[in-house]
Amino acid sequence: MVKIIDKEFVPFITAEAIDSRLQEMGEMISKDFKDDNPIILGVLNGAFMFLSDLAKYIKIPAEISFIKVSSYQGISSTGEVKDLIGLDAKLQGRKVIVVEDIIDTGLSMTHLLKKLKINQPSQISVVTLLFKPEALKHQLKIDYIGFEIPNKFVVGYGLDYDGFGRNLPAIYQLK
Ligand code: 5GP
Ligand code: MG
Ligand code: MG
Repeated sequence: MVKIIDKEFVPFITAEAIDSRLQEMGEMISKDFKDDNPIILGVLNGAFMFLSDLAKYIKIPAEISFIKVSSYQGISSTGEVKDLIGLDAKLQGRKVIVVEDIIDTGLSMTHLLKKLKINQPSQISVVTLLFKPEALKHQLKIDYIGFEIPNKFVVGYGLDYDGFGRNLPAIYQLK
């Protein structure tokens, strides 16, 4: 059990389970993008740890960059999405792999994909560590999913509760 601010969280996905899933995902991505020199775009802040670990299992030449999009406060989505910042990579004609920590309603990813398409990449693929199928409200194609999880708030491994908990090496679920 971990306490963050006023909430209690219980163990949900261990660091070992995350690592072995990342190894599988890395192998799939390496195979699928073998000759493509893709650009991998991690979505900050949530995906920092996920991409850092996943990248070690991606054994092909790839550019890695980070972008930042939305503000999300407390434990329920405000639906408020900010502009895309930090995009310095040239996407035109390139294969882009977007890496997110979690897809909940799908709103953030839908907005992000719309913005990225303006830069005319030849292909955009979506990778997410966690996916809550019951929460999805937007039509979205997700290419690589680490874990499908129930519609319950989680923290750790990059994911925060009001800014805290990102440093936890495993994933915890609201008690
Ligand atoms: P969406 O736009 O798909 O509803 O939400 C995506 C964003 O909401 C994620 O990038 C993340 O910041 C936040 N989010 C959604 N569900 C959770 C959750 O269970 N835990 C945490 N920490 N953040 C979440
Ligand atoms: Mg995120
Ligand atoms: Mg957050």
